[in-house]
Parts: sequence; structure tokens; C-alpha cells
Amino acid sequence: MCGIIGVSGQKNAAQIAFLGLYALQHRGEEAAGIATYDGKDIRLVKKRGLVADVFDDRAMQELQGTVAIGHCRYSTTGSDNHKNVQPFMVRHKRRPIAIAHNGNLTNTEQLYQRLEEDGSIFQTTMDSEIIVHLLAKSKEKDLKKSFVEVLVQLEGAYSLLFLVDDVLVGARDPHGVRPLCLGKLDGHYVMASESCSLDLLHAEYVREIEPGEIVFIKKDQIESVYLPGRDEAKKAHCIFENIYFARPDSNIFMDNVYQVRKRLGERLAKEHPVKADFVMSIPDSGNYAALGFAQELKLPFEVGLIRNHYIGRTFIQPTQFLRDFSVKVKLNPIREVLKGKKVVVVDDSIVRGTTSRNRVEALRQAGAKEVHMRISCPPIISPCFYGIDFPSKKELIASDHTVKEIADFIKVDSLAYLSLEGLLSEMKDRAHFCHACFSGEYPINIPKTQDKYLLEGKCCG
Ligand code: 5GP
Ligand code: MG
Repeated sequence: MCGIIGVSGQKNAAQIAFLGLYALQHRGEEAAGIATYDGKDIRLVKKRGLVADVFDDRAMQELQGTVAIGHCRYSTTGSDNHKNVQPFMVRHKRRPIAIAHNGNLTNTEQLYQRLEEDGSIFQTTMDSEIIVHLLAKSKEKDLKKSFVEVLVQLEGAYSLLFLVDDVLVGARDPHGVRPLCLGKLDGHYVMASESCSLDLLHAEYVREIEPGEIVFIKKDQIESVYLPGRDEAKKAHCIFENIYFARPDSNIFMDNVYQVRKRLGERLAKEHPVKADFVMSIPDSGNYAALGFAQELKLPFEVGLIRNHYIGRTFIQPTQFLRDFSVKVKLNPIREVLKGKKVVVVDDSIVRGTTSRNRVEALRQAGAKEVHMRISCPPIISPCFYGIDFPSKKELIASDHTVKEIADFIKVDSLAYLSLEGLLSEMKDRAHFCHACFSGEYPINIPKTQDKYLLEGKCCG
């Protein structure tokens, strides 16, 4: 997953992009980058690390210009190398173009093969690079027409930002899988993955970029064109953005994420009530559903696990010892709260089941008498091809285990998930969501070769 921000018509566009990226850090902690247009050329600073570490004074000095795009990237496996950091920039016929992409294309293999046969040489293993190659190849002189010509060839999920000279371009796939919103700051437009980024900038929220819309922003002028076929494309907003990924202070897909999560907790309580001494969450992701769950059942809400906020990413190493350590160092149970109690623990999701198992063990060691777990989404049974880094089917515990077997594995006294029907009924417009991870019903073609690392790494994997 990734976060993207676009700024136009600002004296210090890079500074604003930097601040905006701060609020999108949760969407990608692996690497960050900003590209600006200085009137003649595109300038680019990007590297691995957190937003605050990537941009120092020197970087800001370098990033002159009144338009900027920024990106923060999340990639847990394989493709986390320097070349794959975004924004990605190319120069074609002396015209520089930069791109920042959130999402995942599903016809990468076909496009890649076609471009290679036509002589394209790829620098990275990102599907996003394909898009700029297609733009460079377009014979269309009119900028807007060339974008339409290119974007209709893409399948899958994309929220995109481009710098083409001093023009800031934003686009969203016709299904609207990933969020992208438009705001206004001192009379000029900004775009961001999530509205929490606009709040930090004191920008006014204007609206979402519509599915299948491409906006062209130059100074204070904005113009939209629409992809043909967008009216027929079924909306397929990623429901997991609401459950886990987006920040709760954001409004995405015409709803407030905090309120959605709380409603899911209330619904979960109605579907699977428990008699317990209190309700607690697995912080932070479980907080909001846990609150809704407790309020619905009129049970006390307690904080039984304290989060350490100062854990560097360096701890997360692929050895089992360090993984166990990072689980333990992140959340510490409060013995005095838990001892002898019958507790119901609410979390947003179970993916592999391994962290949940560790948490439950920690709660028992701290003296909890009974641990009942409630999950505010249905069992995750199918991988995501549209940008969420869900592992392959065999790593998803619910893909080949029953709820009872999962309960035994994580060693809880009881386990229950929110039903798909319950989840969908809490969405503003249930027909407009992708729930493939829970149902296996993919609304957009999935890659022919179902290999997540098709080009070794995709944009937001
Ligand atoms: P598990 O028990 O499956 O090992 O871990 C469940 C926890 O993983 C939940 O608390 C959930 O918030 C978190 N989680 C869910 N989806 C993702 C994801 O895409 N990336 C990361 N890093 N954590 C996730
Ligand atoms: Mg969590």
C-alpha cells in the first residue's frame, strides 16, 4: 500500500507535500519521495526510510518549485530496493514526467511483454513504470487525450499523481478501488490519498476524485476528463481501507472511517455477544471496533495492553526470534487490569494468526482468566491483487482452517468474526465495495499468472 500527495500553485510546494506525507505515513513506512517542478526541470529526492528521516534541510533546498508530488511506500517483501522507491521519473523528448502510484495493476504481464517487444527498457520492477512508458509512447499531442489513451489500457487498481512540467495530474481507476481526494489550500488545489492529510495542512476538503476521472491542475485552474466506460464500471472501493488501512480521522468513500469502524464493533456485538468483565482492544487497529462493541453491550471498556510507540522498523527482521521480540516489545499487558478477569478482546482482523496468538498468550500470562476474541471483519480467505499486501492463500489462516481450528490455534476460549452480510450492511452503499478478500469474488480481472511478484515487486506490495 502507499500514500500519495500532490500540491500545486504553492511557493514552497515541497514543504507542503512533506507535511502532507507525514499524515499518510501509516500507508507506507518503507520509503518516501517528493518530486517538484522548478520551472525548467523536475527535481527528485527519494530514499528508504520514514518521511521524517528522508527529508532534511538539504533535501528541501533541492526541492525547489511550485508544484510537487509525494509518495510513501509500503512493501513488506522482496521488492524493497532503492530503485523501486517513488516518485518515479523519466525524461522523454526532453520533457520530464514523474509519477506516484497507489494501487496495483492486474494486467502488468501483458503490458510489460508488449512494451518489451516494442523495445522498452525497464529500470525498475514496478508496475508504475509501465504507465510512464505508455505515456512516452503515445503519439497524441494533446496532454489530456494522451492520458485517456494510456489509462484506458490499464486494468486493476490505481490512484495516480503525475507531474508533467508544471501540470499536476491526478487520476483514479474506474472502479475507485483506492481513495484519492481533492482539497484547496489558499486558493490552490491539493490532492491526497486521505483527508487526514488535508486536515494537517489546514486545507479545505473539496471532494473525492471520482472513479474514472482524470484531473489536470495548472496554477489555480482545474479541468477534468473522464475515462470511456467508467459509467459501466462497477464501483469497487476496497473495504479493507475502512476496516484497517485508512486512518480513522479520514473521510474516504463518502464516509468517516472512525464511525464505520465503530459501527462494525456494534454490529459484531449484536451478532456475537459475550458476557465478560470488560471489553478491550488490540491497539491501535482494534480500538474503534472495541469501543462500539463495548457501548453496544453496555460493558466497561478497559485498556489492557499498552503500546510502545518508539519501535524502529529495524526490529522487524525476518528471523523468528526477532519477529517474536517485535511482537512482545510493541504491546505490554497490564497485569493489574487483567488478573482473574474474563475479557473480550476485539481486533480488526486476523491475517496469519501468529500475532493474535502471541497477544493472547501475553494476556494469559498477565493473569486473564478467560479470553474471548471478536474480529470486526469476516475471515480473510483470498489474497488481494489490488494493493493490500495479503499473503498467498496458504499463509492466510482462514483459507484452510475453520473458525474453531483458528480459535484452537490462537488459544482463545471463544472466537467469532463479523459476518460478510453484517459488514456490508454497515457500508453507506454496500454494492460499491470490493470484498474479494472475504468472498473470493473479484470485481476486476485478476492477473493471469497469479504471482504476486510478477515483476519481482509491484508498486504497493
Ligand atoms: P495476525 O494475527 O494475523 O498475525 O495479525 C493480525 C493483526 O495484523 C491485526 O491486529 C491487524 O490489525 C494487523 N493487520 C491486518 N492487515 C495488515 C496489513 O496489511 N499489514 C500489517 N502490517 N498488519 C495488518
Ligand atoms: Mg492490529
